Amino acid sequence: DKKVVLITGCSSGIGLSLAVRLASDPNKKFKVYATMRNLAKKERLLECVKGLHKDTLDILQMDVTSRQSILDARDRVVENRVDILVCNAGVGLMGPLEVQSLDSMRQILEVNLLGTIQTIQAFLPDMKAQGKGRVLVTGSTGGLHGLPFNEVYCASKFAIEGACESLAVLLQHFNIHVSLIECGPVNTDFLVNLQKTELGDESLQLVDTHTLSLYEKYLQHCGSVFQNAAQDTEDIVKVFLDAIQSPSPAFRYFTSGVMPPLTKLKITEPDGSRYISAMSKIIFSAEEQ
Ligand code: NAD
Repeated sequence: DKKVVLITGCSSGIGLSLAVRLASDPNKKFKVYATMRNLAKKERLLECVKGLHKDTLDILQMDVTSRQSILDARDRVVENRVDILVCNAGVGLMGPLEVQSLDSMRQILEVNLLGTIQTIQAFLPDMKAQGKGRVLVTGSTGGLHGLPFNEVYCASKFAIEGACESLAVLLQHFNIHVSLIECGPVNTDFLVNLQKTELGDESLQLVDTHTLSLYEKYLQHCGSVFQNAAQDTEDIVKVFLDAIQSPSPAFRYFTSGVMPPLTKLKITEPDGSRYISAMSKIIFSAEEQ
């Protein structure tokens, strides 16, 4: 019997790659429900699977900020069960905190935090009744340590850690495994899709010059990190597969294979000052080019 997998945020990036990999599994082990907010964007996914997917892929509309849309998608799963739920949809928000509108901050929390939680909520009763299940969540190293100019994004991803860890403690009693796949920078549409305050943006006229020069440095740092150190989605998909195939998956997977040094620093130096000065040095003391 195929494992039924439902994935959120499959129109691009990690969600798309994972859906393609599982739907084209050589042993046809999976039936994939690839969900996306906007079905008009399904062509890319369809091109990637090249029509070889008749019995292994279904594409459904799902906006994780709408409870009704989640329930409608759930009701269209013909197997009437989901064995593996992958909460992946998410967006970034980048810029000086003082220019972020309450609406844009709400939107990020709505998608990243409440979207993830209410998706899990919708599938939990059935998984509990089945007495088994997997919940995989695309996490971020930004959910483990803070990043300047990403306060609200990090807050949303830290919050996911708390929600998932809390659930993991309970759900082991139901044979349901919760795993976070912690990603550093990944080559996806993330940087295109994120809400970012551009340097020329009018709102920045109200921001002090010191913040602006630090923001400029941050953007350069961010650009070079994505250019030089980003992983490809295939690397991330391998880690998802590890977690899916493991009989007793870990709670936390690092896509680079090991805990990144800065994350470790935060844990080994719990008073926080070493992490804060190390991160500041890495981002802000680079020579301007
Ligand atoms: P991406 O922008 O290519 O993919 C995100 C997907 O989420 C998109 O398909 C988007 O349409 C979808 N989405 C946004 N709002 C939605 C909503 N309301 N309902 C349903 N879907 C919605 O970027 P990605 O890198 O593939 O992002 C996937 C996940 O990985 C996100 O949770 C992101 O925070 C996380 N992540 C990404 C990186 C990175 O560097 N790319 C690093 C760490 C974590």
